Amino acid sequence: MFDYHMHSSFSADCSTPMEDTIESAIQKGLTEICFTEHVDYDYPDPTIQFALDTTMYDKKIKEMQEKYEGQISIKKGVEIGVQPHVLKQCEQLVNDHYFDFIICSLHAADRKNLHHGQFFENRTPELAYEMYYEELLDCIKNYDHYSVLGHLDLVKRYKKLDSERNFHEIIREIFRVIIPKGKGIEVNTSGFAYGLGSAMPSEDILTLYKKCGGEIITIGSDAHEPHHVAHNFKDTLQLLKSIGFQYVATFENKEPILHPINNII
Ligand SMILES: [Zn+2]
Ligand SMILES: [Zn+2]
Repeated sequence: MFDYHMHSSFSADCSTPMEDTIESAIQKGLTEICFTEHVDYDYPDPTIQFALDTTMYDKKIKEMQEKYEGQISIKKGVEIGVQPHVLKQCEQLVNDHYFDFIICSLHAADRKNLHHGQFFENRTPELAYEMYYEELLDCIKNYDHYSVLGHLDLVKRYKKLDSERNFHEIIREIFRVIIPKGKGIEVNTSGFAYGLGSAMPSEDILTLYKKCGGEIITIGSDAHEPHHVAHNFKDTLQLLKSIGFQYVATFENKEPILHPINNII
């Protein structure tokens, strides 16, 4: 089993030492993990700077790989927060530094913060959802430097929708752009911890991804604390299998490696 979305003290919103997360992963029997520290350029909250010390990060990952060799495989990833006006900077970062795996996430839309709710001010939830997915579509039409899309329906975490709309028409468009380019999505199990009652994206979107021909999928807990490592993975793997997915992916030097789900559960 692999956890392909986790943070440590290299992320601005996390104070967990890498060792604690690694040891939790070993205890839980994982064979491979990938740290995906935050980089969010021009994040619309002046009180937090999502910058990454790339030199220290590289050094620490190498140290951890040596220290835990033979116990667990540790990969070096990054979670990039895209916005239409920072795509060049994102590209520069991943061109200048080695990463095994890159998650492309939308944490802000309309240059406003989702987490603290500014994005939802003065607009209906339905319009906010539509703008969120449209902005993600706009980004991935103009940006190719990533492995998977992170928590695709993150907008649900911050505001409940007051209509039945599922936005599948925009999300299908997103899949039509990313799948032919060999990009994937992740299933992010932190949705359970945040009370959504499902992973992100939800089952209907995972099913749509499969129907559109999507094969590359990673599974990640988005753990900011050691006890969240591999949270709800067994049920999530069962769900993926029931939808028809046969593989989960890991990455090395940005290349996907597919592992049969049947060998994991
Ligand atoms: Zn994220
Ligand atoms: Zn994350």
